[in-house]
Amino acid sequence: MEQPQARPSSSSAGGKPQDSGVLTREDFDGGPVSIDEVDTGLFLGNLTAATHMETLRSFKITHILTLDSVPLPQHILEASFLTTKYIQIADMPREDILQHLEGCVDFISTALAQQGNVLVHCYFGVSRSSSTVIAYMMKRHNLDFLPAYELVKSKRRFVQPNAGFVSQLKLFRRMGCKIDPNCQRYKIHRLRLAGEQMRKAKILPQSFHSVVRPDPDITRENPEPIVFRCRRCRRVLASKSHVLEHKPRDRAPQEKEAPGQDQPENAIAPNAPMLEQLAERLRQSSLGSPGHEATNANQCRSILFVEPIAWMHRIMLNTQGRLYCPKCEQKLGNFSWINACKCPCGETMTPAFYLIPSKVELSKAVQNVQTTV
Ligand SMILES: [Zn+2]
Ligand SMILES: [Zn+2]
Repeated sequence: MEQPQARPSSSSAGGKPQDSGVLTREDFDGGPVSIDEVDTGLFLGNLTAATHMETLRSFKITHILTLDSVPLPQHILEASFLTTKYIQIADMPREDILQHLEGCVDFISTALAQQGNVLVHCYFGVSRSSSTVIAYMMKRHNLDFLPAYELVKSKRRFVQPNAGFVSQLKLFRRMGCKIDPNCQRYKIHRLRLAGEQMRKAKILPQSFHSVVRPDPDITRENPEPIVFRCRRCRRVLASKSHVLEHKPRDRAPQEKEAPGQDQPENAIAPNAPMLEQLAERLRQSSLGSPGHEATNANQCRSILFVEPIAWMHRIMLNTQGRLYCPKCEQKLGNFSWINACKCPCGETMTPAFYLIPSKVELSKAVQNVQTTV
């Protein structure tokens, strides 16, 4: 399909973009029209482009996807040749762009399937809109984050998703370009957002109540076979799927941003002092109790981080506190929505809900027979 040349080109954006390609908030004016075609029929641009009728007509734009703190002016929203979608979002790393990506990708896909031309824009066309277009490219072309980012950047040189959006895009890709509510990292992402709400409001808003899981002692639908019980009274406290796994701290830094450098599973930092290395070996060899699958053998069991669960008393009303067994009132652990909790291995979790392993026992329910493993 013949497309108009991108004009005025992004390079004419008032000379504002520096070599780094990053625009700053000092530019209160969105600058001149800036629009680039990223994929056939898919355009990425700034607010000025989205509000400039002549530009919309010359690029034959039929659909506009707006990611901004305010919607487009009425005369654009009411233009008969346009279908619009608005997502209210600020360009902040902690903003939850992930929850919008599926809907945005669908909007773009539907528009393109109808032979339309889509303009995705935010204020500058740098972070929020480019993140959305990268998400679309990852799904459409089955790309990981980096190649999708590079592809979009090759068409519009100053695309620069903020760091929070980058990690959310990687998570989106990891989940198969959709939301997988059972994905551990997604659960942690939701918990962090809930933690920020608790920090601000001191009470868990309704929209985050779903992060608190149903009580496995009461739930009778599809009970999970492997559960953690109170060691004193044997009350069921958590199912295996409630456990938020973490790897021993020592290995974590080697995993960061070092693709292709496969570390042996029990690698120990080579410069760790001899005694620490020995202690680490002993500790690692005691990890993974019988009954765990091999895949769990490298998970740290010094602390049992779990999702918040309905029996945990007053967790929706307090930012932190202790966790007691709902049946025998034995102290089982602690929680904090706002402060990091540190496992003895050094790894931290925020928010954190944890059970002390010596207070609980793993048990396996086989039909009606319960066996302790
Ligand atoms: Zn108990
Ligand atoms: Zn640990």
